[in-house]
Amino acid sequence: MTPEEFRRHGHQLIDWIADYRACVSGLPVRSSVAPGSIRAQLPVSPPVTGESFDAIFRDLDTVLLPGLSHWQHPSFFGYFPANGELSSVLGDYLSTGLGVLGLSWQSSPALTELEEVTTDWVRQMTGLSSAWSGVIQDTASTSTLIALLCARERASNYSLARGGLQGLASPLIVYCSAHAHSSVEKAALLAGFGRDHLRSIPVDHEHALRPDALAAAIAADRAQGLTPCAVVATTGTTTCTALDPIAAIAAVTRDNRLWLHVDAAMAGSAMILPECRWMWAGIEDADSLVLNVHKWLGVAFDCSLYYVRDAEHLVRVMSTNPSYLQTSVDTQVKNLRDWGIPLGRRFRALKLWCLIREQGVDGLSARLRRDLTNAHWLATQVIATPPWRVLAPVPLQTLCVRHEPPGLEGEALDRHTLAWAERLNQSGLAYVTPAILDGRWMVRISIGALTTEQEHVANLWVRLQQEASQTL
Ligand SMILES: *Cc1c(COP(=O)(O)O)cnc(C)c1O
Repeated sequence: MTPEEFRRHGHQLIDWIADYRACVSGLPVRSSVAPGSIRAQLPVSPPVTGESFDAIFRDLDTVLLPGLSHWQHPSFFGYFPANGELSSVLGDYLSTGLGVLGLSWQSSPALTELEEVTTDWVRQMTGLSSAWSGVIQDTASTSTLIALLCARERASNYSLARGGLQGLASPLIVYCSAHAHSSVEKAALLAGFGRDHLRSIPVDHEHALRPDALAAAIAADRAQGLTPCAVVATTGTTTCTALDPIAAIAAVTRDNRLWLHVDAAMAGSAMILPECRWMWAGIEDADSLVLNVHKWLGVAFDCSLYYVRDAEHLVRVMSTNPSYLQTSVDTQVKNLRDWGIPLGRRFRALKLWCLIREQGVDGLSARLRRDLTNAHWLATQVIATPPWRVLAPVPLQTLCVRHEPPGLEGEALDRHTLAWAERLNQSGLAYVTPAILDGRWMVRISIGALTTEQEHVANLWVRLQQEASQTL
């Protein structure tokens, strides 16, 4: 494709996306296609001769669009807000269009330095001290894996330079609550700790990790000759946005010289609001934290911010230095390949930069406050309308609700919950996520898509009640 052809089709594509965003509210939120039906409409083998871009466009409308669930729909209340603000979408295009790679600072200096500047902007926006240094990773799963690798290497005095974990006399132990994200377990397994050395710490009545139970588990492991290594605490758990008490947990990790990693993948965005920062009080005592600006804050996926206090340690764990990557300025610059796992680095900072500049901290804050108000409004309605219940505190924008008609209990109640949620999702008018809390199904409502206004939340509430009563 020549630059001139690109200009023509690029305009066409931008128009298509602008129309899509303008009209998405009229589409069914959840796709209702049958498994395999999209694949069945596509050729099994690749085209031998090139096709026109117009032909590709046609398939976009007729084949792919029906197979999409619309995360940018104002009635998308599933999973979490994966907001792609259009300003950040433009930044993403720019990154792809420039096609530069950050293998070293010298391979594209602006890529590294804009990443330094934008991660520092977010540090300031979230009220973190200047002791933190940030770097962009693809996802929280990667950030947490890196955190556990760093924890492992600190506890083992850089075992990677010797026999690795296999050379250690005493197994290293990782602690998190039963509500920690599945990526924590995955990271612990991939980092070589092994399932036998991952402890699930009990939670309190608000589903937050209990520091007393943590301290007891650490003491018990020590008594057995094991080596406690790291704690992963969560600010805003996935199921119900529970808030692990960071300050109390940090007191335990400090006394025991354990690594403390804070997973604030979802809730971290809310820390741009000073009134929310109590939720991670004690954060300055953590060793690392992850914050997905590709969630509620609005950066087009993927953009996960990983912050550490001891950058030198991170670099020591992650660095490789083959001759073809060495440059004469290496002592004066950051080579971000040493701040994570991949060598190649996209210019992700551009989409974060475009978002923050175009929205401003005020614009971003106003949208988040709108969502908090909407969540609070809905919680108030649900609480005031028996037999509906709100099952967990609502510190942020996620509600856990259940319709509990008299006489329905246990598995019968589960069947009712799943049935009305499925009816609602199948209607295409809203999308919610059923999940298990305390052993029973409930419905999780995550508010905060870019275009979700109070009217959409009010409509959702009407629909919830209709679907639940018609299911009975
Ligand atoms: C979303 C989320 C994750 C996983 O995020 P990815 O970026 O998809 O890996 C981990 N932890 C929490 C608390 C989350 O909300």
